[in-house]
Amino acid sequence: MPSSTCTHPYQQHADAPTSAPRPALPERSRPDSLTVADGRLHLDDLDLVVTAEKLGSPLYIYSAAQIEANVQRLRAGFSRSSHITRIFYAAKACGSPAILRLMRRLGVDIEVNSGGELQAALDAGFSPRQILFNGVAKTDDELRLAAELDIAAVVIDSLWELQRLAHIAGELHRRVGVSLRLDVGVAPKTHPGLVTSGDAKAGIAMADAFAAFSQAAAEPSLKLLGVHFHVGSQVTSTEPHRLAVRAALDFLDRAEEACGVRVRHIDIGGGFAIPYTDAPPNGSHPWFRSSLTPADYADAVFAELRGRRDDVEVFIEPGRYLVGNAAVLLSRVVSRKSKLQASAPDHEMGADGGAGPEAPTHTHWLFVDAGFNTLLNAVCYDWYYHSIAADRAAEPHSAEFRLAGPLCDGGDVHPGEPGSRGRLLPAGATVGDPIAFLNTGAYTWDTRSTYNGRFPARGFLLLDECLVPM
Ligand code: PLP
Repeated sequence: MPSSTCTHPYQQHADAPTSAPRPALPERSRPDSLTVADGRLHLDDLDLVVTAEKLGSPLYIYSAAQIEANVQRLRAGFSRSSHITRIFYAAKACGSPAILRLMRRLGVDIEVNSGGELQAALDAGFSPRQILFNGVAKTDDELRLAAELDIAAVVIDSLWELQRLAHIAGELHRRVGVSLRLDVGVAPKTHPGLVTSGDAKAGIAMADAFAAFSQAAAEPSLKLLGVHFHVGSQVTSTEPHRLAVRAALDFLDRAEEACGVRVRHIDIGGGFAIPYTDAPPNGSHPWFRSSLTPADYADAVFAELRGRRDDVEVFIEPGRYLVGNAAVLLSRVVSRKSKLQASAPDHEMGADGGAGPEAPTHTHWLFVDAGFNTLLNAVCYDWYYHSIAADRAAEPHSAEFRLAGPLCDGGDVHPGEPGSRGRLLPAGATVGDPIAFLNTGAYTWDTRSTYNGRFPARGFLLLDECLVPM
């Protein structure tokens, strides 16, 4: 980060330092639904600047048209084989009733992760046969509900859960469809917080997989329908999906023959990545970049299945791919300051104090009304969401600011541009400016909180030119 040109130690309002300008809207990580007209950011035809003025901020706006386009792309990608593919939307990515109703209207089935999500799916009009129930720690009440409803499948996460469900189903005199979540031990090479295979908590270890398979096959109250192996989220290479399918098929070759049961479906989970930045790779955070399409993932999966298992249905559980790029979070700059600060804080220096004190520089802080109570992943996963001055969206963004939320925590700071601590905005950005965060549709809405006594962000789905409350 270049240092400020200010030399006077007490000067408070030096201009923000400038950096190589970047276009406001990125090319590859820009969703189709976002455009600029008259210098202002629009979602479909909705002027986001006017909308934030009218409705206040922080404010999430989702585009139904973008979600529909994402569903179509995913369907097209996975129709490149004679295998039937069923799409189960991972409700955890955004479980708002408006989004769930839209998914149902688009003909997508649903994957849920708790009794609450199961109920929300039913409330949105999904039939039990459209529902998959996943989760690492289902309670007896949740298992009983799933057993009573006769859903598409309960995805079993452990031997203990298998026995619990068999017992509960037996008490109810039901035969419950199950699939086994296998930990195929494939590294997904994504953000460490999003890894669900290998050294992770989810799934049945391959060492126990045969015991689980034979017990499920023999249990009169269970119907063994499939195997499942979601390896992680935002998986920016197709190789993990390919290796996971291969490992599962190798296992099935042995287990099916030994137990005399053939599964009907293979559930590859989700994990299909979206691009969050166009910035070139700089060695850090490779998971923010992706140019993969659904067809790329499908080709990898079908290359393993074709000729080896043409009889199975393929289940996919996309979350991020369907909603991630469909929302914009609108915030506003509510405060600013220029602080004379050491250019690297103490805790970023080495144990011995690092390279010694550096000349202090002015840090230009802008505070927006969206902190981690609105965008949790920005802090808990250090997640980068591209930001734009929504009312100056045609101008190059070249002035460097530190962009922070309003909360009391020192950590309530939005990560900088890839490879930097600073955020680029147009020169002179200041209080009152609307700042839009892009690609904020997945794993955001449901994680809002009232922390620090703040109202959670409001949200709307832009559907047929109407704003429908989330
Ligand atoms: N399926 C399971 C079992 C998951 O745990 C997740 C999320 O991590 C998903 C599907 C959805 O993943 P993604 O949003 O990356 O598609």
